[in-house]
Amino acid sequence: MTIRLRLTLWYTALLGATLILFSIIVYSSLYTTLRAQMEQNAAQQAADVVNALTQQLRFDVLIIRNNPTDVFFPEVELFANSVGVQVTGMDGKILKRSENLGAIDLPEIAYALPVVAAGQTHTFYTTPVGDVRFMVYSAPLRVDGEVVAAVQIIQPVQASTTTLNQVSRYLVLGTTISLIMAAIVGAFLARRALEPIDAITNTAGAITRTRDLGKRIQIADNASEIGRLAATFNDMLDRIQQLFMTQERLIGDVSHELRTPLTTVQGNIELLQRMASAPGASSGERALEVNELLNETLVEVQAETKRMSEMISDLLLLAQADSGALQLQWEPVELDTLLLDVYRQTRRLADHYKGPGELEVRLGSEDQAIVQGDRDKLRQVLLNLAENAVKYTPSGGVITLGLGREDTGVHIYVQDSGIGISEEQQQLIFERFYRTDKARSRELGGSGLGLSIAQSIAQAHAGRISVESRLGEGSTFALWLPVAPESNPQNHQEPEAVAA
Ligand code: ADP
Repeated sequence: MTIRLRLTLWYTALLGATLILFSIIVYSSLYTTLRAQMEQNAAQQAADVVNALTQQLRFDVLIIRNNPTDVFFPEVELFANSVGVQVTGMDGKILKRSENLGAIDLPEIAYALPVVAAGQTHTFYTTPVGDVRFMVYSAPLRVDGEVVAAVQIIQPVQASTTTLNQVSRYLVLGTTISLIMAAIVGAFLARRALEPIDAITNTAGAITRTRDLGKRIQIADNASEIGRLAATFNDMLDRIQQLFMTQERLIGDVSHELRTPLTTVQGNIELLQRMASAPGASSGERALEVNELLNETLVEVQAETKRMSEMISDLLLLAQADSGALQLQWEPVELDTLLLDVYRQTRRLADHYKGPGELEVRLGSEDQAIVQGDRDKLRQVLLNLAENAVKYTPSGGVITLGLGREDTGVHIYVQDSGIGISEEQQQLIFERFYRTDKARSRELGGSGLGLSIAQSIAQAHAGRISVESRLGEGSTFALWLPVAPESNPQNHQEPEAVAA
């Protein structure tokens, strides 16, 4: 059963139950009021008759017993034709009755007499002929304080029954029409309310069919619950589309990056084959030459395969970080000790890349700080920042490493007086494979994955990497970490890395 049908049925059933209850209350209170009114009228009429008879009996008490037919009913004419009056003796004998009653037989009167004898009034309903129902109201007639007869007002209840029947017809009709309208309006409203769900289904179906992740649901009212669902669905599609695009770009980048070293390796192997098969390759001086070239080529092949293997390890680490499966060895890490270690490594790197004494590596501000984290991974991040500083700072430049503390955390910075990064590129350098100068980076052995990895590791520590730079003046990269992270910061909400 569809939700729309279910909602409509529930809505109609609830309204139906309410209307039926309402009809029952209206009908029964009308019934009670009408009956009470009839009884009140009958009581008034009975009182009039009792008064008139009491007047007569004042002059001749015995007339009622001895000659009841002589009792005069002057008020009878006053009553409507449909109201009959009857005087019944306490023995059950009818002493006098108005003509309009004819010979109508009311045997139940016997039940009223004991009540009337006790001085009380009594009402009962009876259907003596056909289906005409009568109300019989009995009141005591007293002479000298003694109940001598019962005065009975007899009238058909038809008038009130007709009113009640008419009202009940209106109620049934009204309820039925209301329910039909409620079902129609309910179905319409349910359809309107559930339209965005249809839109979501259709959009999801269209995406599956056409594989076009660019489709979105058009939302008219995004304040409603379903509107919000549609908005969330659109946001999710944005994210999926973005992930797909990133994935595609990544695959493109990876294949491109792997193709370059593979081409080099392939070229070298072909060269070796050609040299080995050349005439005289194994004789005398030529053999020495071939051997030397062979060694050079093998060194190059080894460097390229090492590069590829490193790139694959880097990609694996990034994939683990993306899926939240990055394995970290949590322990207290003394950042000041780590800083000194990285400082020494940076000096060696500077000598390696630029030659001894070509770059000045300094220690800047220092402080003591302990954080929870993975020592090796944090070291990897800092070494990457330091290696970049060395690579992108020309000879004669200065590299400063330091540690600073704030209320909220601690940061280790690597400052260089190198080539700097333009403001637009500062937004991009954390993307995978992004390099401001591809050829230069490649020449320096970079793959463009270093900062992405550094950022992922920082985030896994609930930290971030920041960059401040001016083109031609130098850059400052910093690793920010919370000062007292709880036992496993990986469980924390990961802050966005700030590239500003
Ligand atoms: P790479 O392996 O190319 O160094 P990274 O991800 O570490 O890759 O860095 C990305 C790019 O950011 C580099 O190619 C370089 O263009 C730029 N970059 C990083 N660090 C610096 C720096 N200290 N000075 C200037 N440019 C830098």
